[in-house]
Order: sequence, then C-alpha cells, then structure tokens
Amino acid sequence: MMNQIKIGAFISERRRAKGWTQSQLAEKLEITNKAVSKWETGRSMPDLSLFMPLCTLLDVTLNELFAGECIAQEKLKEKADEVLMDVITNWLGHDKWELKEYDKAPQNVLEVENVSKRYETENSSVLAVNDVSFQIPRGSFVGIMGASGSGKTTLLNLIAAVDQPTDGTIWVSGQNIADIPDEAAAEFRRRHLGFVFQEYNLIENLTLYENIALALTIKEVPKESIRPMVQSLSEKLDISAILDKFPYEVSGGQRQRCACARAIVVNPDIILADEPTGALDSHTARQLLDTLAMLCREYGATILMVTHDVMAASYCDRILFMKDGEIKAALNREQENKQAFFAEILKKIEWMEGESHVVPEAVNP
Ligand code: ADP
Ligand code: MG
Repeated sequence: MMNQIKIGAFISERRRAKGWTQSQLAEKLEITNKAVSKWETGRSMPDLSLFMPLCTLLDVTLNELFAGECIAQEKLKEKADEVLMDVITNWLGHDKWELKEYDKAPQNVLEVENVSKRYETENSSVLAVNDVSFQIPRGSFVGIMGASGSGKTTLLNLIAAVDQPTDGTIWVSGQNIADIPDEAAAEFRRRHLGFVFQEYNLIENLTLYENIALALTIKEVPKESIRPMVQSLSEKLDISAILDKFPYEVSGGQRQRCACARAIVVNPDIILADEPTGALDSHTARQLLDTLAMLCREYGATILMVTHDVMAASYCDRILFMKDGEIKAALNREQENKQAFFAEILKKIEWMEGESHVVPEAVNP
C-alpha cells in the first residue's frame, strides 16, 4: 500500500518550505482547505487530476510525491521502480512480482508460434485464432488485415497477455508470456507494451501534458528531463501548442497523436494498435499514420497495427492477412511507393475473397 501518512507529511513539509499556509495551497489548487488538511494528516489522497498541479507547485516529481520523499539523483532508478510497484499494487490491488531480466537482444521483438485460441460457450465453440505463427523484427511496422470476425482482436489480446492462448507460445523480447503470473500481467503490459486504440486512450481528467508525463513515471527519468522529453516529442507530433488542454478539449486526431506520444515516450518493446484510425476522417487518419511511420523510422519503434482500411495498411512494411482465424497470406512492401503497395494490397484482398468461392466448387465440382 502507498503510505498515505508519509505522503501527507511530505506535502505538508514541502508546503511549509514554500512558506504557504494550507489555505494558500488550497487556493492555488482551487480546492477547499479541508481537502488539504485531510491529505496532510493522511486521511485522504489528492485526486488524480491534482497530482501534476500539486507536483508543479511543490516543485517535486510524481515519483517523489508517491514516495513521500525527495529522491536523490543516484537513487532515482532504484526508487522509481520501487515507487512504481507501489503505485501499481495500490491501484490495481496486485501483489508484487519480481520482474526477471529480459533478453533485449533478440532481433525479433515478437514471436508467435503455433498459437490457437478456442472460445467455448454453452452451445458453441469458436476457433477464433487457428495455428498462427509469425515474427516481428525490431523496428518494423506490421499490419494485420482481415474481415470482421477473422480473429484480429483476439490475436492482439493474446499478445497483450489480456487473454491466454489455448495452444502455442508467444514471446515478447524473449520472454514467454505464459510464464508471467496473472497478477503481474498488468505490470508487464505497462513496462513492455504501448497501446493505441480506436478510442479511450487517455485519462480524461489529466491534461495532454500530464497524460504523457504520467507514462514517464514508470521510467527512471530524471525530473528535469521530463518536460524537455515531452516537449520535443510533442513538437514532432504537432501537439505542443495544446499540451495544457484536456482530452475532451481537443480533436480526435490530436488525442490519437497524444496517445502515440504516450505510447512511445516510455520506449516499449512493441506498440499494439487496434484500428487506431477507425474514428478519424481520412485526412486526420493520414496524419496519424504518418506519425506512426515516423515513430518507426526516427525512434526505432516496433508497431503491430490491426486495420481493415487499405489506405492505413499501405503505410506498413509488411501485412498479414487473416481469415477464419488463420493467416492466409503475407505481403512485404518492396518499394517506397504507397500507391503501388495500395494496389497490391487490394489485389491480395480480392484473391482472398475469391478463395472462399473457389473452395466449395473444388470440393463439390
Ligand atoms: P476481429 O477483431 O477480426 O473482428 P475477433 O477476434 O473479435 O475478430 O473475433 C474472432 C471470432 O471469435 C469471432 O467469431 C467472435 O465471435 C469470436 N469471439 C471473440 N471473442 C469472443 C469471446 N470472448 N467469447 C466467444 N467468442 C468470441
Ligand atoms: Mg476487432
């Protein structure tokens, strides 16, 4: 559990160091004196939305606030991990679990070997993923295409350790994810995976800046580096002017670019994106796809993106085509030209659709 009393005493100490009364701090945060008094006596914790403003006012990092003490530069790494564990344990109610040293060396960030997933319900059984194998090399941008119901989301959930395969093995950076205990899965995801979904990517009561900065607390990033890191990445993603806004105050495209910033800033092994352009108009979708491609090119990110949109897929280096839970075909981008790749993808899809007509005829001539 996070030590509420220690955190309260720390807030109190930092407030006094600034020469403020409880009411002066309350006024700056636009909250009641009573709330400040409750924190300082360890009877309650600040609201999530107040963490960042409070840190700025008291001139401490989020890690320090959670730890309830100032953290010396040389202890930063050790402390950040310890504090992160506490925060996760506290928020998710999970027990601690020792992370083993992952082998960062393998060239394949992801290896999927003979993976199947069968869903059993009362009166039906669905083989949602059927004996799928593939590898994703570091730094590549891979797309998965397939009609609705072909098993794309199931496959992504298996890779994200949200769901367990019925058969087969999945390695993320050399770690067999079946070896991760259930209660440690959330922590594994936070450390090794980045997510960009169609919606619900950001914490609504944090500003865009806070959303990105929060992700950095899981890394041993020194306090003075956080702002420059967020700033430079935001400029790259063209959201630097709106960092102080809340998610509901900005457009869908801006939210998604912020989600990309948050996913990449912690340097995950792989970013999983499920229909990230699904809710965007085509112009905004292109901007997001340019952003994802740029993250691979300039930041060495590895991305696995599920999409049913040919335009989106044409930004990838490689595409896997799923049908009825199986990978039926794959296509590598051979040249830079997106238009040419777009045409090739269309041809492949037509061929796949054609297959379903050919098969019954062959069986029953
Ligand atoms: P996609 O993302 O490609 O649309 P899904 O992975 O969501 O496909 O679904 C693949 C198949 O598995 C579908 O037939 C779907 O009905 C079935 N399915 C998905 N999730 C479940 C579940 N939790 N229980 C039972 N069947 C499921
Ligand atoms: Mg899906």
